[in-house]
Amino acid sequence: MTTIAIIGGGIAARSLLYAMAKKNISSKILVFYSDSFAFPCSLHSTAIVAPRGVTAGNSSLGDTLMEGFGRFQKHVSEDAPEGVERIPQYTGALTKLEAFQKRYPDGKKISSIGPLKFQEEIYFTEEEAYLITPSQYLSWLTSEASRKLNVEFVPSFVTEVHEKTLKTVDGGDFSFDELIVTAGVKNFLWQPLLEADPKSKTVQGSYLEYDFDFGEKSFSLTLEGDNLIYSHPTKKLLIGSTTQESSWELPPERLLSEIHARLRTRMKNILPEFAQGRMLVGLREKAKKREPYLLKKDAYKIMGGLYKNGYTLGLSLAEKILS
Ligand SMILES: Cc1cc2nc3c(=O)[nH]c(=O)nc-3n(C[C@H](O)[C@H](O)[C@H](O)COP(=O)(O)OP(=O)(O)OC[C@H]3O[C@@H](n4cnc5c(N)ncnc54)[C@H](O)[C@@H]3O)c2cc1C
Repeated sequence: MTTIAIIGGGIAARSLLYAMAKKNISSKILVFYSDSFAFPCSLHSTAIVAPRGVTAGNSSLGDTLMEGFGRFQKHVSEDAPEGVERIPQYTGALTKLEAFQKRYPDGKKISSIGPLKFQEEIYFTEEEAYLITPSQYLSWLTSEASRKLNVEFVPSFVTEVHEKTLKTVDGGDFSFDELIVTAGVKNFLWQPLLEADPKSKTVQGSYLEYDFDFGEKSFSLTLEGDNLIYSHPTKKLLIGSTTQESSWELPPERLLSEIHARLRTRMKNILPEFAQGRMLVGLREKAKKREPYLLKKDAYKIMGGLYKNGYTLGLSLAEKILS
């Protein structure tokens, strides 16, 4: 029997397992991950799947995102995954209104959305979106896949890959026939094996998380680039998010407090106090032109560069790398 080794435990790896199960792959599968050496960005993600104004036919990244969104919609309607809820995505603007209205001609001026009351009338548009509860969706993908695959999870950090063998930090030695790397910001460690350089950078993202009851309906709202996301099932309110080139997991407190203050002022102060929130940070892999990449050489493959779109692109990229 052949063995496929996977490095990664985030949305890329779990989507890959799910796609492998759909293909009835009979190999032995070993999945290596390490929450302590490389915490998955997938668990510190605001995790919305939505086009957010992107349309097909304008750029290669736009086409990839729309393909990913279409695949995710199909996944939801056919597979009814747990941890995924269909919600409205409201996007609004206060400045550069003319350009915004051109991009979103179907919007309207409103002074409230559900429990949110604004200081003034704001032009908003509404799109279809999916809100993901990462821990629940990742568990669902894994349990669905595990029912069909011969898979073993190894919670250990891979330190060395040589030909068709690998070593882990705690002294484990494993051999494989094929290796698929889905290691997020740690992909750079393995790119030399494939003699590839997708020009990856590590970009930090952060947001505030509150336990907060905002009513019966989940939603995602983007106003002038600031995000407010409410999940009714988990009663969590997320406010964010920041983007900065950095490999540190230290939260940018000042930037987060500025976002919080802007939204709070625009919403008649109904949001909780800044200090009541938890600051969460995820590290994302940004490749050339913000585009995801799939690499293959000999027994090695890498799926990376998911950047801000891991949940949107996970499944479509996983299916591509297996095809
Ligand atoms: C603030 C924020 C908001 C976001 N919002 C959205 C959004 O709205 N929509 C969306 O689609 N995406 C969003 N994203 C992006 C999305 O979260 C990422 O693209 C996605 O999580 C990347 O998944 P991944 O599986 O590639 O990497 P990760 O989740 O980082 O997983 C990498 C895995 O590899 C393992 N690993 C690494 N190296 C090794 C090794 N040597 N040995 C063993 N294991 C190893 C790690 O332990 C980890 O399990 C957001 C991200 C952030 C930070």
